[in-house]
Amino acid sequence: MDASVELVVERLAAVRQRIERAGGDAANVAILAVTKGFGAEAVRMAMAAGLDEVGENYAQELVAKVEAIAADQPRWHFIGRLQRNKVRKLAPSVHLWQSVDRIALGHEIAHHAPGAAVLVQVNVSAEPQKGGCDPNEVAELVRELRDLDLDVRGLMAVGPTGAPEAARPGYRQVRRLADDLGLDVRSMGMTGDLDVAVEEGSNLVRVGTALFGPRPKAAAVAG
Ligand SMILES: *Cc1c(COP(=O)(O)O)cnc(C)c1O
Repeated sequence: MDASVELVVERLAAVRQRIERAGGDAANVAILAVTKGFGAEAVRMAMAAGLDEVGENYAQELVAKVEAIAADQPRWHFIGRLQRNKVRKLAPSVHLWQSVDRIALGHEIAHHAPGAAVLVQVNVSAEPQKGGCDPNEVAELVRELRDLDLDVRGLMAVGPTGAPEAARPGYRQVRRLADDLGLDVRSMGMTGDLDVAVEEGSNLVRVGTALFGPRPKAAAVAG
């Protein structure tokens, strides 16, 4: 095995250990490899390490990686702030739209990818730049997305900037909302706060840095 793949395999084992220590069952907490800011090589390494779900934040970067990888594609998750005019070119590649936070996006996705699987992003940080629907409006948005025949699988949240512990109340709220709405997927937690997220019921953690190391600065803003 390639040395860089071996490193990702080791880091993945460490992430799994963190999940278990937080009380998560490795079989029930999915790991999404977040490759934003890293090259297509990171996608190949993730796949070689056994991860076939990969997340990207920026439309252009996702499309560029789809082209660079050509044959053996992972299941792509779109996890970033999404503009309506980017939906069309993403539609053929995206397996799960994690950042749906308004009905206008739902319309666009339903048009270009009928029946697509989506998560509703909930804003639990009071930081508007992070996107997400107000917690009080989640139930209504879920209903409206279902009326468009989209397959609403669950909720997604990005924790506030700062100490991991600060994310706990928001994650707890998302867990409760998902349970109330009968939604299975709770996409919560990244490298910095996945422990708290799993403690609060995450079953999908989105991890970049913990697998690939520090993100190259210049590339991180491409998109
Ligand atoms: C970048 C990003 C991640 C991964 O962040 P790391 O700290 O590298 O693990 C997860 N989710 C979202 C929405 C992101 O933007």
